[in-house]
Amino acid sequence: MESQLTDSFGREITYLRLSVTDRCDLRCTYCMAENMTFLPRKDLLTLEELDSLCGSFIARGIRKIRLTGGEPLVRRGLMEFIKNLSRHRESGALDEITLTTNGTQLSKFAKDLKANGLERINVSLDSRNPDTFLKLTRRAALDNVMRGIDAAQQAGLKVKINTVALKGTNDAEIPDLMIWAHERGMDMTLIEVMPLGEIDEDRVDQYIPLTAIRDQLKERFTLIDTPLKTGGPARYVKVAETGGILGLITPLTNNFCAGCNRVRVTCTGQIYTCLGHGGKLDLREAIRGANPQEDLSALLNLAMHQKPEKHNFDISDRGAAPAVARHMSVTGG
Ligand code: SAM
Ligand code: SF4
Repeated sequence: MESQLTDSFGREITYLRLSVTDRCDLRCTYCMAENMTFLPRKDLLTLEELDSLCGSFIARGIRKIRLTGGEPLVRRGLMEFIKNLSRHRESGALDEITLTTNGTQLSKFAKDLKANGLERINVSLDSRNPDTFLKLTRRAALDNVMRGIDAAQQAGLKVKINTVALKGTNDAEIPDLMIWAHERGMDMTLIEVMPLGEIDEDRVDQYIPLTAIRDQLKERFTLIDTPLKTGGPARYVKVAETGGILGLITPLTNNFCAGCNRVRVTCTGQIYTCLGHGGKLDLREAIRGANPQEDLSALLNLAMHQKPEKHNFDISDRGAAPAVARHMSVTGG
Protein backbone atom coordinates (compact mmCIF):
# COMPACT_ATOMS: atom_id res chain seq x y z
CA MET A 1 0.00 0.00 0.00
CA GLU A 2 1.08 3.59 -0.60
CA SER A 3 1.16 5.83 2.46
CA GLN A 4 -1.98 6.01 4.59
CA LEU A 5 -4.05 9.17 4.06
CA THR A 6 -3.57 11.21 7.23
CA ASP A 7 -4.59 14.84 7.67
CA SER A 8 -2.58 17.60 9.31
CA PHE A 9 -4.36 16.96 12.64
CA GLY A 10 -3.14 13.36 12.64
CA ARG A 11 -6.54 11.86 11.74
CA GLU A 12 -6.28 8.76 9.56
CA ILE A 13 -8.77 8.90 6.70
CA THR A 14 -10.15 5.43 6.10
CA TYR A 15 -13.71 6.17 4.95
CA LEU A 16 -14.82 7.45 1.55
CA ARG A 17 -18.36 8.61 0.88
CA LEU A 18 -18.88 8.61 -2.83
CA SER A 19 -21.81 10.42 -4.38
CA VAL A 20 -22.60 8.63 -7.63
CA THR A 21 -25.26 11.11 -8.78
CA ASP A 22 -26.74 14.40 -7.60
CA ARG A 23 -30.16 13.45 -9.02
CA CYS A 24 -33.00 12.13 -6.95
CA ASP A 25 -36.57 10.91 -7.35
CA LEU A 26 -37.66 12.67 -4.13
CA ARG A 27 -37.46 16.35 -3.18
CA CYS A 28 -37.09 16.36 0.61
CA THR A 29 -37.84 19.90 1.72
CA TYR A 30 -34.72 20.15 3.95
CA CYS A 31 -32.42 18.77 1.26
CA MET A 32 -33.54 20.26 -2.04
CA ALA A 33 -35.68 22.91 -3.63
CA GLU A 34 -38.58 21.66 -5.79
CA ASN A 35 -36.91 23.02 -8.89
CA MET A 36 -33.33 21.88 -8.88
CA THR A 37 -30.75 22.37 -11.60
CA PHE A 38 -28.83 19.13 -11.70
CA LEU A 39 -25.30 18.75 -13.01
CA PRO A 40 -25.00 18.24 -16.77
CA ARG A 41 -24.58 14.53 -17.48
CA LYS A 42 -21.40 15.18 -19.46
CA ASP A 43 -19.73 16.44 -16.26
CA LEU A 44 -20.30 13.16 -14.44
CA LEU A 45 -17.48 10.71 -14.03
CA THR A 46 -18.19 7.48 -15.85
CA LEU A 47 -18.61 4.35 -13.74
CA GLU A 48 -15.19 3.20 -15.01
CA GLU A 49 -13.67 6.47 -13.80
CA LEU A 50 -15.39 6.14 -10.44
CA ASP A 51 -14.06 2.61 -10.16
CA SER A 52 -10.51 3.68 -10.87
CA LEU A 53 -10.89 6.55 -8.42
CA CYS A 54 -11.98 4.11 -5.71
CA GLY A 55 -8.89 2.04 -6.51
CA SER A 56 -6.67 5.07 -5.89
CA PHE A 57 -8.33 5.75 -2.56
CA ILE A 58 -8.05 2.11 -1.51
CA ALA A 59 -4.35 2.20 -2.37
CA ARG A 60 -4.06 5.08 0.15
CA GLY A 61 -5.73 3.23 2.99
CA ILE A 62 -9.47 3.74 2.50
CA ARG A 63 -11.14 0.69 4.14
CA LYS A 64 -14.82 1.55 3.77
CA ILE A 65 -16.80 3.06 0.91
CA ARG A 66 -20.36 4.32 1.23
CA LEU A 67 -22.27 5.01 -1.99
CA THR A 68 -24.64 7.90 -1.73
CA GLY A 69 -26.07 10.81 -3.70
CA GLY A 70 -28.60 12.25 -4.62
CA GLU A 71 -30.27 8.88 -4.80
CA PRO A 72 -27.57 6.33 -5.63
CA LEU A 73 -30.05 3.73 -6.93
CA VAL A 74 -31.17 6.03 -9.77
CA ARG A 75 -27.68 5.91 -11.32
CA ARG A 76 -27.82 3.50 -14.26
CA GLY A 77 -25.34 0.61 -14.10
CA LEU A 78 -24.82 0.90 -10.35
CA MET A 79 -25.20 -2.85 -9.71
CA GLU A 80 -22.40 -3.63 -12.19
CA PHE A 81 -20.28 -0.93 -10.57
CA ILE A 82 -20.79 -2.45 -7.11
CA LYS A 83 -20.08 -5.93 -8.43
CA ASN A 84 -16.73 -4.71 -9.81
CA LEU A 85 -15.91 -2.79 -6.67
CA SER A 86 -16.49 -5.88 -4.53
CA ARG A 87 -13.24 -7.36 -5.88
CA HIS A 88 -11.47 -5.12 -3.35
CA ARG A 89 -13.49 -6.67 -0.58
CA GLU A 90 -12.73 -10.13 -1.78
CA SER A 91 -9.01 -9.29 -1.88
CA GLY A 92 -9.21 -7.96 1.69
CA ALA A 93 -8.19 -4.42 0.67
CA LEU A 94 -11.61 -3.07 1.64
CA ASP A 95 -13.61 -3.94 4.77
CA GLU A 96 -16.99 -2.76 3.60
CA ILE A 97 -19.07 -1.35 0.77
CA THR A 98 -22.35 0.14 1.85
CA LEU A 99 -25.10 2.45 0.66
CA THR A 100 -27.42 5.20 1.84
CA THR A 101 -30.73 5.23 -0.01
CA ASN A 102 -34.19 6.74 0.20
CA GLY A 103 -35.54 3.24 -0.39
CA THR A 104 -37.85 4.00 -3.32
CA GLN A 105 -36.02 1.59 -5.66
CA LEU A 106 -34.93 -0.95 -3.09
CA SER A 107 -37.52 -3.57 -3.92
CA LYS A 108 -35.91 -3.76 -7.37
CA PHE A 109 -32.29 -3.84 -6.21
CA ALA A 110 -32.17 -5.39 -2.72
CA LYS A 111 -31.30 -8.91 -3.89
CA ASP A 112 -28.55 -7.67 -6.20
CA LEU A 113 -27.07 -5.51 -3.48
CA LYS A 114 -26.83 -8.51 -1.20
CA ALA A 115 -25.50 -10.75 -3.97
CA ASN A 116 -22.81 -8.15 -4.70
CA GLY A 117 -21.48 -8.26 -1.17
CA LEU A 118 -23.33 -5.54 0.73
CA GLU A 119 -24.24 -6.54 4.27
CA ARG A 120 -25.76 -3.36 5.67
CA ILE A 121 -27.53 -0.35 4.22
CA ASN A 122 -28.98 2.86 5.59
CA VAL A 123 -32.49 3.80 4.54
CA SER A 124 -33.58 7.38 5.10
CA LEU A 125 -37.14 7.60 6.34
CA ASP A 126 -38.49 10.66 8.11
CA SER A 127 -42.14 9.61 8.47
CA ARG A 128 -44.43 6.61 8.13
CA ASN A 129 -47.46 8.86 7.91
CA PRO A 130 -48.46 9.17 4.22
CA ASP A 131 -49.44 12.85 4.54
CA THR A 132 -46.27 13.82 6.40
CA PHE A 133 -44.15 11.76 4.00
CA LEU A 134 -45.74 13.54 1.04
CA LYS A 135 -45.28 16.93 2.64
CA LEU A 136 -41.66 16.21 3.48
CA THR A 137 -40.53 14.55 0.26
CA ARG A 138 -43.04 16.21 -2.11
CA ARG A 139 -43.60 12.77 -3.68
CA ALA A 140 -46.18 10.05 -2.90
CA ALA A 141 -43.63 7.26 -2.61
CA LEU A 142 -44.12 5.92 0.91
CA ASP A 143 -45.53 2.57 -0.27
CA ASN A 144 -42.50 2.01 -2.49
CA VAL A 145 -40.17 2.76 0.40
CA MET A 146 -42.02 0.34 2.68
CA ARG A 147 -41.86 -2.37 0.03
CA GLY A 148 -38.17 -1.56 -0.39
CA ILE A 149 -37.47 -2.01 3.31
CA ASP A 150 -39.35 -5.33 3.29
CA ALA A 151 -37.32 -6.50 0.29
CA ALA A 152 -34.03 -5.45 1.86
CA GLN A 153 -34.74 -7.36 5.05
CA GLN A 154 -35.96 -10.38 3.10
CA ALA A 155 -32.74 -10.31 1.08
CA GLY A 156 -30.79 -10.50 4.34
CA LEU A 157 -29.49 -6.93 4.38
CA LYS A 158 -29.18 -5.32 7.80
CA VAL A 159 -31.13 -2.08 7.59
CA LYS A 160 -30.58 1.05 9.65
CA ILE A 161 -33.16 3.83 9.52
CA ASN A 162 -31.88 7.42 9.30
CA THR A 163 -34.31 10.14 10.32
CA VAL A 164 -33.79 13.89 10.20
CA ALA A 165 -35.62 15.55 13.10
CA LEU A 166 -37.80 18.40 11.83
CA LYS A 167 -39.62 20.82 14.05
CA GLY A 168 -43.40 20.60 13.78
CA THR A 169 -43.21 18.05 10.96
CA ASN A 170 -42.02 14.69 12.24
CA ASP A 171 -40.77 15.46 15.76
CA ALA A 172 -43.93 14.18 17.46
CA GLU A 173 -43.80 10.97 15.41
CA ILE A 174 -40.22 10.04 16.28
CA PRO A 175 -41.05 7.82 19.29
CA ASP A 176 -43.47 5.71 17.19
CA LEU A 177 -41.03 5.58 14.30
CA MET A 178 -38.37 4.32 16.68
CA ILE A 179 -40.64 1.63 18.13
CA TRP A 180 -41.53 0.48 14.61
CA ALA A 181 -37.86 0.34 13.57
CA HIS A 182 -36.78 -1.52 16.68
CA GLU A 183 -39.66 -4.01 16.43
CA ARG A 184 -38.43 -4.85 12.95
CA GLY A 185 -34.88 -5.35 14.21
CA MET A 186 -33.59 -2.12 12.69
CA ASP A 187 -31.42 0.38 14.51
CA MET A 188 -32.33 4.01 14.06
CA THR A 189 -30.23 7.16 13.89
CA LEU A 190 -31.59 10.66 14.35
CA ILE A 191 -29.89 13.61 12.64
CA GLU A 192 -30.06 17.35 13.24
CA VAL A 193 -30.89 19.30 10.11
CA MET A 194 -27.84 21.11 8.73
CA PRO A 195 -27.70 24.42 6.82
CA LEU A 196 -26.52 23.03 3.48
CA GLY A 197 -27.77 24.54 0.22
CA GLU A 198 -30.59 26.91 -0.65
CA ILE A 199 -34.03 25.38 -0.10
CA ASP A 200 -37.55 26.76 -0.34
CA GLU A 201 -38.10 26.96 3.44
CA ASP A 202 -36.26 28.75 6.24
CA ARG A 203 -34.09 26.38 8.26
CA VAL A 204 -35.01 28.18 11.47
CA ASP A 205 -38.49 26.72 11.00
CA GLN A 206 -37.11 23.19 10.46
CA TYR A 207 -34.42 22.96 13.10
CA ILE A 208 -35.01 21.21 16.40
CA PRO A 209 -32.03 20.23 18.55
CA LEU A 210 -31.75 16.54 19.37
CA THR A 211 -31.44 17.50 23.04
CA ALA A 212 -35.18 18.33 22.81
CA ILE A 213 -35.99 15.01 21.12
CA ARG A 214 -33.96 13.15 23.71
CA ASP A 215 -35.90 14.86 26.49
CA GLN A 216 -39.16 13.92 24.80
CA LEU A 217 -38.04 10.28 24.46
CA LYS A 218 -36.91 10.15 28.08
CA GLU A 219 -40.49 10.73 29.20
CA ARG A 220 -41.46 7.34 27.73
CA PHE A 221 -38.22 5.35 27.49
CA THR A 222 -35.10 4.53 29.44
CA LEU A 223 -32.12 5.62 27.37
CA ILE A 224 -28.92 3.92 28.44
CA ASP A 225 -25.67 5.48 27.20
CA THR A 226 -23.48 2.94 25.43
CA PRO A 227 -19.80 3.16 24.60
CA LEU A 228 -20.63 1.78 21.12
CA LYS A 229 -18.51 3.55 18.48
CA THR A 230 -18.66 2.95 14.78
CA GLY A 231 -16.02 5.50 13.82
CA GLY A 232 -18.75 7.92 12.78
CA PRO A 233 -20.27 11.01 14.33
CA ALA A 234 -23.17 9.23 16.08
CA ARG A 235 -23.44 8.73 19.84
CA TYR A 236 -25.50 5.68 20.72
CA VAL A 237 -28.00 4.84 23.43
CA LYS A 238 -29.76 1.56 24.09
CA VAL A 239 -33.50 1.86 24.60
CA ALA A 240 -34.34 -0.46 27.50
CA GLU A 241 -38.02 -0.92 26.57
CA THR A 242 -37.41 -1.86 22.91
CA GLY A 243 -33.95 -3.41 23.23
CA GLY A 244 -32.95 -1.42 20.14
CA ILE A 245 -30.14 1.03 19.49
CA LEU A 246 -30.72 4.72 18.85
CA GLY A 247 -27.97 6.86 17.32
CA LEU A 248 -27.86 10.63 17.69
CA ILE A 249 -25.97 12.77 15.18
CA THR A 250 -25.66 16.29 16.51
CA PRO A 251 -23.63 18.47 14.14
CA LEU A 252 -25.11 21.60 15.71
CA THR A 253 -25.42 20.91 19.40
CA ASN A 254 -22.30 18.79 19.87
CA ASN A 255 -19.31 19.02 17.57
CA PHE A 256 -17.82 15.60 16.83
CA CYS A 257 -15.08 16.50 14.35
CA ALA A 258 -12.14 15.36 16.48
CA GLY A 259 -12.74 11.74 15.43
CA CYS A 260 -13.44 12.46 11.76
CA ASN A 261 -12.12 9.70 9.50
CA ARG A 262 -13.83 10.57 6.22
CA VAL A 263 -13.75 12.47 2.96
CA ARG A 264 -16.44 12.92 0.34
CA VAL A 265 -16.19 12.78 -3.43
CA THR A 266 -18.92 14.02 -5.75
CA CYS A 267 -20.08 12.40 -8.99
CA THR A 268 -17.97 14.93 -10.93
CA GLY A 269 -14.83 14.04 -9.00
CA GLN A 270 -14.64 16.96 -6.55
CA ILE A 271 -13.18 15.96 -3.22
CA TYR A 272 -14.60 17.72 -0.17
CA THR A 273 -12.69 17.08 3.01
CA CYS A 274 -15.40 18.55 5.26
CA LEU A 275 -19.19 18.58 4.89
CA GLY A 276 -19.31 21.98 6.57
CA HIS A 277 -16.71 23.80 4.47
CA GLY A 278 -16.54 24.92 0.86
CA GLY A 279 -12.93 23.80 0.28
CA LYS A 280 -12.57 21.24 -2.51
CA LEU A 281 -10.13 19.93 -5.07
CA ASP A 282 -10.88 18.72 -8.58
CA LEU A 283 -9.79 15.11 -9.12
CA ARG A 284 -11.46 14.79 -12.54
CA GLU A 285 -8.68 16.53 -14.47
CA ALA A 286 -6.17 14.17 -12.89
CA ILE A 287 -8.26 11.06 -13.65
CA ARG A 288 -8.54 12.11 -17.29
CA GLY A 289 -4.91 13.25 -17.58
CA ALA A 290 -1.73 11.48 -18.67
CA ASN A 291 -0.54 10.32 -15.21
CA PRO A 292 -3.73 9.63 -13.30
CA GLN A 293 -2.27 7.56 -10.46
CA GLU A 294 0.61 9.93 -9.66
CA ASP A 295 -1.46 13.08 -10.08
CA LEU A 296 -4.30 11.70 -7.98
CA SER A 297 -1.98 10.69 -5.20
CA ALA A 298 -0.46 14.20 -5.15
CA LEU A 299 -3.94 15.76 -5.02
CA LEU A 300 -4.96 13.47 -2.17
CA ASN A 301 -1.89 14.61 -0.23
CA LEU A 302 -2.93 18.21 -0.83
CA ALA A 303 -6.49 17.43 0.26
CA MET A 304 -5.15 15.97 3.53
CA HIS A 305 -3.24 19.19 4.08
CA GLN A 306 -6.39 21.24 3.49
CA LYS A 307 -8.83 19.23 5.62
CA PRO A 308 -10.09 21.67 8.25
CA GLU A 309 -10.18 20.85 11.92
CA LYS A 310 -13.94 21.19 12.27
CA HIS A 311 -17.21 22.53 10.93
CA ASN A 312 -19.10 25.38 12.50
CA PHE A 313 -22.84 25.28 11.77
CA ASP A 314 -25.32 27.79 13.08
CA ILE A 315 -29.09 27.90 12.56
CA SER A 316 -30.22 30.88 14.55
CA ASP A 317 -30.71 33.73 12.10
CA ARG A 318 -33.91 33.84 10.10
CA GLY A 319 -33.18 34.43 6.41
CA ALA A 320 -29.47 33.61 6.83
CA ALA A 321 -27.62 32.14 3.85
CA PRO A 322 -26.72 28.45 4.22
CA ALA A 323 -23.36 27.70 5.89
CA VAL A 324 -22.39 25.99 2.67
CA ALA A 325 -24.01 26.78 -0.68
CA ARG A 326 -23.97 23.25 -2.08
CA HIS A 327 -26.79 20.84 -1.24
CA MET A 328 -26.26 17.64 0.72
CA SER A 329 -27.39 15.83 -2.41
CA VAL A 330 -24.29 17.10 -4.23
CA THR A 331 -21.72 16.28 -1.60
CA GLY A 332 -23.41 13.07 -0.57
CA GLY A 333 -24.92 12.56 2.86
N1 SAM B 1 -30.99 9.98 -1.25
C1 SAM B 1 -30.36 9.18 -0.27
C2 SAM B 1 -31.09 9.27 1.04
O1 SAM B 1 -31.93 10.14 1.21
O2 SAM B 1 -30.78 8.44 1.90
C3 SAM B 1 -28.89 9.48 -0.05
C4 SAM B 1 -28.47 10.91 -0.06
S1 SAM B 1 -29.13 11.94 1.22
C5 SAM B 1 -28.37 13.49 0.84
C6 SAM B 1 -28.27 11.31 2.63
C7 SAM B 1 -28.81 11.71 3.98
O3 SAM B 1 -28.66 13.10 4.13
C8 SAM B 1 -30.28 11.41 4.18
O4 SAM B 1 -30.43 10.66 5.37
C9 SAM B 1 -30.90 12.77 4.34
O5 SAM B 1 -31.99 12.75 5.23
C10 SAM B 1 -29.75 13.60 4.87
N2 SAM B 1 -29.84 15.04 4.61
C11 SAM B 1 -30.08 15.67 3.45
N3 SAM B 1 -30.05 17.01 3.62
C12 SAM B 1 -29.79 17.23 4.94
C13 SAM B 1 -29.63 18.41 5.74
N4 SAM B 1 -29.74 19.63 5.23
N5 SAM B 1 -29.36 18.23 7.06
C14 SAM B 1 -29.26 16.99 7.60
N6 SAM B 1 -29.38 15.85 6.88
C15 SAM B 1 -29.65 15.96 5.56
FE1 SF4 C 1 -33.23 12.87 -2.33
FE2 SF4 C 1 -31.99 11.90 -0.21
FE3 SF4 C 1 -32.09 14.54 -0.64
FE4 SF4 C 1 -34.32 13.30 0.03
S1 SF4 C 1 -32.47 13.47 1.30
S2 SF4 C 1 -34.09 14.78 -1.66
S3 SF4 C 1 -34.05 11.36 -0.91
S4 SF4 C 1 -31.06 13.06 -1.87
